[in-house]
Amino acid sequence: MNNTVLEVKHLKTYFFTRSGVVKAVDGISFGLRKGESLCLVGESGCGKTATALSILRLIDSPPGRIIGGEILYHGEDLLRCSSERLRQIRGNRIAMIFQDPQTSLNPVFTIGDQVAEQIKLHLRLKHKPAMERALYLMEQVGIPQARERMKDYPHQFSGGMKQRVMIAAALSCEPEILIADEPTTALDTTIKAQILDIFRDLKQERNMSILFITHDLGTVAGIADRIIVMYGGRVAEAGTALDIFDQPKHPYTHGLFNCLPNISAGRNRLTPIPGMIPSLIDPPEGCIFNPRCEHRMPICSEERPKEVVLSGEHFVACHLYS
Ligand code: SF4
Repeated sequence: MNNTVLEVKHLKTYFFTRSGVVKAVDGISFGLRKGESLCLVGESGCGKTATALSILRLIDSPPGRIIGGEILYHGEDLLRCSSERLRQIRGNRIAMIFQDPQTSLNPVFTIGDQVAEQIKLHLRLKHKPAMERALYLMEQVGIPQARERMKDYPHQFSGGMKQRVMIAAALSCEPEILIADEPTTALDTTIKAQILDIFRDLKQERNMSILFITHDLGTVAGIADRIIVMYGGRVAEAGTALDIFDQPKHPYTHGLFNCLPNISAGRNRLTPIPGMIPSLIDPPEGCIFNPRCEHRMPICSEERPKEVVLSGEHFVACHLYS
């Protein structure tokens, strides 16, 4: 049975700037299944956020434009549906949480009003039932003394509590898909763990599909079913969490792991990936990772590597395996 709820096919999102065309997303494809958490991982500037924003057609235009591909939600192409239809899907069926809750909350309205506003907008409830639902959701995401705290303003909430509020607002319409763009990046380690627990529970209890975006492979260890490693707007490697954690193949994936502390393996010195993310206006020929890759061969600067299936769902785009 095909339980794919969202399918991204050959997506290309470019930004047309004075300096040139930035190929932020350059032909990526993947599917998201019912009830799974799929993690998009890579350094800043590799196209993760542009991919997420493209799914909901939230790319600022100009300068950005989706120039190719399809985004199929239960087979319906979101790139070609009407604005009215897209509004029905956004928030109701697919919700998004952003990295910095600080900038997503309005400082002059109470927390309760802001969560209830989403509910009124999407479920068309009156004020009282919307506030009751807001209270229920705030309790669900673990905000203590939620009834009292609904009357507070954003500045009275810590960063972790604000992110819980954003999750509550995103859940207001029971979306089928939750896109979370670096939702734990601004949080300290213990709060990060608590927020990840909430995502884990959402997946298990609500059978929600989660597209989780992060630059930190360590973060996804506990929640990912599958992982896509992105580099330079393209997919470098993809597979189940077990594939990526136990048998990483792409030199870039290895590089990301080397950036993580590993106390059990006795590695407490981190090894950064040499060099910088390439310009996406004038990317390197062939494999876009080749200027930073210690395994590069002559073919690497001549031909773009094709995706090679290694086993099951594990594939890699690297000439070492072709
Ligand atoms: Fe390195 Fe070549 Fe593989 Fe690119 S294709 S990751 S340059 S070995």
